[in-house]
Amino acid sequence: MQSLSTFPSGLATISLDSAPTLAIWANGHVLPLAEAAPRVGSDSVPGSARTALLDWESWCSLIDRVSADVGGEGWLPDTEVEFRPAIDASTVYCTAANYHDHIREMSGTTERSQARAPLYFLAPPASLAGHRGAAARPDGCQRFDWEVELAVVIGRRAWQVPAGDAYTVIAGYAVADDLSLRDFARREDTPFFPDWLGMKGHAGCTPIGPVLVPAAAVPDPMNLELSLSVNGERRQHSNTAEMIFSIAEQIEYLSGIVPLRPGDVILTGTPAGTGAAWKSFLAPGDTVVAEIGGVGQLETRIVAAEDADVDNQAVTSGAGRGGPR
Ligand code: ZN
Repeated sequence: MQSLSTFPSGLATISLDSAPTLAIWANGHVLPLAEAAPRVGSDSVPGSARTALLDWESWCSLIDRVSADVGGEGWLPDTEVEFRPAIDASTVYCTAANYHDHIREMSGTTERSQARAPLYFLAPPASLAGHRGAAARPDGCQRFDWEVELAVVIGRRAWQVPAGDAYTVIAGYAVADDLSLRDFARREDTPFFPDWLGMKGHAGCTPIGPVLVPAAAVPDPMNLELSLSVNGERRQHSNTAEMIFSIAEQIEYLSGIVPLRPGDVILTGTPAGTGAAWKSFLAPGDTVVAEIGGVGQLETRIVAAEDADVDNQAVTSGAGRGGPR
């Protein structure tokens, strides 16, 4: 497990007095944006990360300037605050079967993928959860699986963007865990499959964070080490270089179908080492840590379904603990 100081600073969304609040995160500490902005002569702050994307360069420059003062007046240890999802995403596109090593373990074949284009499903934005949040294992689920993924956050409208220009539309990156209920992938009562929503769309099952890291702080997103551990035991370990369709190719493909918008998220696929391969799955009480070198370290607790209500509302809703969305 890396030291927090090895991860770049970024924009966190935390709860303060039960309300979503933007904050600058640096080296394990947070400073609410409302305290940081006046230090550089600004008095208005955006209400959400998606709104911050509309003037993203200014906020990135503030993050850079203020992070140099981490630990000074106004900074709180991040263990004292509750994290919300790093982005209030408008749409969450998820790439399936996008790592050579993951396809090898799922299909048992050593042949390279023959796919001509990436394959997508959507995760409901309401399934997003924050760092150190809880994910409930739903009743009837025995094969609750993990998937560390690099999340790409879109920063500007992108329609029919060629791969060569794709990086101009990226605002930043975060770590995500595409928690998957493998039992629910197929249903006996319909010939149609897979049931992506039943498998991937449950509340709290798409943790993302801890923070949104500005793209400028991640110079080579196609060469990042990814890993995931369960209760301290490493289960996944790979590199984004193993992707079948690169980030740029994914943006070209998606933006050729539908315009991408600021706040849209692309989960870019998971490498080998899922529970399906280990034949070992998550149970209440487990702690999952997904980590991407140079981006962040995202922790999720697994809880039983009956313990879900309070935790899931706290981590997924836009309102306060227990409040309506
Ligand atoms: Zn996935």
